[in-house]
Amino acid sequence: MNQTASTLYGMIVEQPVLFGVFVFWLGCCIGSFLNVCIWRIPRGESVVTAPSHCPRCGHQIRWYENIPLVSWLALRGKCSGCREPITIRYFIVELITGILFVLVFAKVVYLGWPLTFLPLYFGLIMLAVCTTFIDFKHLIIPDRITYPTMLLGVLSALAFPETWRQASHLLAGAYSIFTLLGCLAVMWSVSFLGEKIFRRDAFGLGDVKYITALGACLGPFATFSILLIASVIGTAAGVSLALARRQALSGIAIPFGPFLAVATCLWIGGDYFILSWVGALLPPVP
Ligand SMILES: [Zn+2]
Repeated sequence: MNQTASTLYGMIVEQPVLFGVFVFWLGCCIGSFLNVCIWRIPRGESVVTAPSHCPRCGHQIRWYENIPLVSWLALRGKCSGCREPITIRYFIVELITGILFVLVFAKVVYLGWPLTFLPLYFGLIMLAVCTTFIDFKHLIIPDRITYPTMLLGVLSALAFPETWRQASHLLAGAYSIFTLLGCLAVMWSVSFLGEKIFRRDAFGLGDVKYITALGACLGPFATFSILLIASVIGTAAGVSLALARRQALSGIAIPFGPFLAVATCLWIGGDYFILSWVGALLPPVP
């Protein structure tokens, strides 16, 4: 750990609540941006240009109406122009993102892991939150959220090789790219064969790209574990839904993305705890 990083670490350990509140607020602000992504990306709109406006009356959202959590509560969930209800999704996305940010921050600090894990984890939380809400509603996982995450994985490995338990920048970057290509090849084949043999989609292409992005960020072992956790939760949810509706399981179509997202959050929050529980399959982070 270099001098600046260890000084920052010392400050965090001295003032954990202050930094915790800051990270929570950062997460809420990112959540506010994710709300824009969740609304605009499936509609093919830009997420940077054009200021936010009410979809009903066109009222432009002013800065003080755009403060995470606070504004939604202050406006009592209604547009100040036309009193059209604003979905509680805005509030929930901001709150969930804030909570997830502070949880992974707490884990990293508690375990004494390098803070350089944080950009990677925060990026994955953004991917997970967007995927949950977009896939649930539109049954797609857009390239515009999976491709940037793949890039984040490769860049993070190159910049912070310790997140891949490596000393060499080039080697960590190479591992990330290699895992990316490997996941793409394996998942695409599974998707292709599943369609040929079972005549139904095992995975959509969006799922394949999501899993590939996980590979680039976290490596093969974590990706496999997340896929396993997602499949277990997904199957349990599918069976419960089939039982509740008294339908055949084959007739139930639910998007896989939200389960991948939940499994991703469980993994990045609990990987160390899960691994030490199953008997420490991986060496600890240096
Ligand atoms: Zn309005």
